[in-house]
Amino acid sequence: MIIWFDIDNTLYSASTKISQAMGQRIHAYFVSMGLDEDEASDLHFKYYTQYGLALRGLTRHHDIDPLDFDRKCDGTLPLEELIQPNPKLRMLIEDLDRTKVRVWALTNAYKNHANRVLTILGIRDQIEGVVFCDYENPNFTCKPEPEYYHNAMKQAGISDPSKCLFIDDSKQNVVAAKKLGWGRCAHFYEAGLEAMEGGKLKTLGQNGDTAASANGVVVITDLEDLRKVWPDIFSK
Ligand SMILES: [Mg+2]
Repeated sequence: MIIWFDIDNTLYSASTKISQAMGQRIHAYFVSMGLDEDEASDLHFKYYTQYGLALRGLTRHHDIDPLDFDRKCDGTLPLEELIQPNPKLRMLIEDLDRTKVRVWALTNAYKNHANRVLTILGIRDQIEGVVFCDYENPNFTCKPEPEYYHNAMKQAGISDPSKCLFIDDSKQNVVAAKKLGWGRCAHFYEAGLEAMEGGKLKTLGQNGDTAASANGVVVITDLEDLRKVWPDIFSK
């Protein structure tokens, strides 16, 4: 089996407000393309909603360099001020029974940001591999596109989707994985906290926003809950 962890707003809490800092930078990028504030907000939200990632829309419909976008957005985040080494998270991952599960990350960010976050959290050495969005390829895929999950499995050398376990704070990402037959999916859902998605701030659990507790998806509010919902993959 392989357990796949999303990174942003999953391995650290939305309370860090990193998604807000990201959203501001992405908004500034849209404005720098010549859009006014409202047009920038609308297009940002539209692309996020349509593609799962604003940059996916930008590369499809505009002549922009994804690596330039990454440098200006994720690359300028003051992550060292927003997150710290997390010994409790490290212990959780160390307690996974490695005779049963391999541990991978599955992110919509580029490798620079992914590795930076994992390093600051103090868990990079616990993660066997990171599947990231390959911004060097202008036609890159991302979650929740089925091709992205297929590529991830190929990279990790696993062919049976039922042997994949997956945790993500995005409902659409876990639902997409479940549709592809991924064995166990957990929706990490911090109800009551604010998170920015597509440049719009939302309070999780309000205004019709719901957790994905159907079709075999479990909802967890703390990563420690994994010990309870999937006890068989922990050695202690
Ligand atoms: Mg996430």
